[in-house]
Amino acid sequence: MQETANRVSLIPVLHDNYVFVLHGDAGRQAAVVDPAVAEPVQAWLEQRGLELAAILHTHHHHDHIGGAPQLLERWPQAEVIASRADQERIPHQTRGVAGGDQLELLGRSIQVLSVPGHTAHHIAFYLPPTAGDDGHLFCGDTLFAAGCGRLFEGTPEQMHHSLQQLAALPEATQVWCAHEYTEGNLRWASQEDPTNQAIAERLAAVEATRRGGEATIPSTVALEKATNLFVRAKDAEELRRRRGSKDLWRG
Ligand code: ZN
Ligand code: FE
Repeated sequence: MQETANRVSLIPVLHDNYVFVLHGDAGRQAAVVDPAVAEPVQAWLEQRGLELAAILHTHHHHDHIGGAPQLLERWPQAEVIASRADQERIPHQTRGVAGGDQLELLGRSIQVLSVPGHTAHHIAFYLPPTAGDDGHLFCGDTLFAAGCGRLFEGTPEQMHHSLQQLAALPEATQVWCAHEYTEGNLRWASQEDPTNQAIAERLAAVEATRRGGEATIPSTVALEKATNLFVRAKDAEELRRRRGSKDLWRG
């Protein structure tokens, strides 16, 4: 578990999922992003005397929504913010949103980005930088550290467009990916692009981080532009080929 000065915390759950907690600037209110399960999230909030004000979902997969019903039993007043187009697959929504929408939550403004590819109605939440804070991106299973989500419901064209949209955000943006897949992604990437020195260096750093049992999240937009072969794919065809290679890779 890791607390950062910039008021986002990460709770590791299940095998390799992360649930993120966004703290308000004042008071005891918090929001959580993609609660896969409830118990550890509820315990984490209660230990710190925090009240859950909102649940944000990036997409409908169970490891991103599974904890919501139980959290809502404990905090029935919490808002549930998710893709309006996925109302059937993401229940309990109190505020349906779509790409281009802007929200105010816990004193921060949040931009909703449409990032299809992994699922048809996948969204991401972007918090622009404020004084003393580099900004945050909650990208679910679209962008992973050195990877991207599998194309379950989208095309390589859609994923390419989604990743380019995220790569256009400010380079210092903290990127909160929903799974700890970084080491495997980089081992694949170092075979796919063996001459990329930035990938080799990041792999060595990440191996040390994981040996220490630490999270490799958050990443940054700058780091992904340097080392993520899906972000670096020059077009949808190159992304399609790399996604196929990674799908078959058993490192
Ligand atoms: Zn997913
Ligand atoms: Fe997932």
